[in-house]
Amino acid sequence: MPDYSDLKNKFGHYCIYEAPASGFTTYRAGGRAEAAVVPGTPAELLWLGGWCRAKGIRMLVLGRGSNVLVSDKGLPGVTVLTERLARLEVSGNSVTAQAGVLWDDLARITAEKGLEGLEKTSGIPGSVGGAVRMNAGAFGQETFDRLVSVEAYDAAGGAVRLLKKNMDFGYRRVSGLDGLTIISARFEFPSGDAAALSAERARVLAARAAKQPLDFPSAGSVFKRPAGDYASRLIDAAGLKGFRIGGAEVSAKHAGFIVNAGGATATDIYTLMREVRARVKAASGVELELEQILLGEF
Ligand SMILES: Cc1cc2nc3c(=O)[nH]c(=O)nc-3n(C[C@H](O)[C@H](O)[C@H](O)COP(=O)(O)OP(=O)(O)OC[C@H]3O[C@@H](n4cnc5c(N)ncnc54)[C@H](O)[C@@H]3O)c2cc1C
Repeated sequence: MPDYSDLKNKFGHYCIYEAPASGFTTYRAGGRAEAAVVPGTPAELLWLGGWCRAKGIRMLVLGRGSNVLVSDKGLPGVTVLTERLARLEVSGNSVTAQAGVLWDDLARITAEKGLEGLEKTSGIPGSVGGAVRMNAGAFGQETFDRLVSVEAYDAAGGAVRLLKKNMDFGYRRVSGLDGLTIISARFEFPSGDAAALSAERARVLAARAAKQPLDFPSAGSVFKRPAGDYASRLIDAAGLKGFRIGGAEVSAKHAGFIVNAGGATATDIYTLMREVRARVKAASGVELELEQILLGEF
């Protein structure tokens, strides 16, 4: 393992050696990050990027780890967790949120202020940075609906500002962000009725609780929605609800989710993903595409 003592000296208890992925991913599974660092400001994050570059050490940025599966072999290098970059500023109908703001806080605050357009995304358990990276969305609304611009650092540590109008994005897909560290995002909203938006938020949260296995660790929908169908319907039709490998299980409540039903390894989850894909292909001919991101060696 490289010498991370510079990071320990600078970040103290916000630098954790051999940090288990169970602590920073919603699957609560996987190996260890060599060094996990939780910077408190964009300047600290910039410094960290420079340090990694100078030492030739790989740096990975994560939000809430709610769309990733970390290999049991762990993550070499520095894993940055953005959760302390949590400033959110509202100015009229414009909101600027740092990358580590919990997406659901943005959805709640904008609904409460009568800013319309993200209320249906309530309950997505990621960060603003992760939502921008994935163009996360739900119930017909998505991150890019209200996004105006993104502030980021490029691989050389230069500050860049990307305008949505110049970006290429689609369903759970954004191109042009590879290699960039997202620092903050700006959103603009039309005015709406705060009470109605908060009521819609409550309705969406109730629908999620009714449909999704929120009492088990997971990373949400495993596969993207195939054209004209739903992954969960195809998985259910292939008879896979409740199908289990080790501690990983196709949720009996929502077949689109794989849950950690207790003590799942990343290998259990990965093996189950592959098995589901193969069986759905055999049953329906449809090749499901992974929405979740595999990190490390599989
Ligand atoms: C119960 C549950 C329900 C879910 N429901 C939905 C849903 O309805 N709709 C939906 O779209 N998703 C859903 N998800 C998936 C997930 O919450 C989203 O994809 C979310 O946007 C991921 O955000 P995150 O901060 O956790 O990202 P992470 O999982 O931490 O990272 C995802 C990717 O983004 C990159 N990334 C994160 N932050 C940054 C940054 N600051 N700069 C550069 N790259 C960055 C990471 O490197 C990684 O490639 C659900 C997940 C769970 C567990």
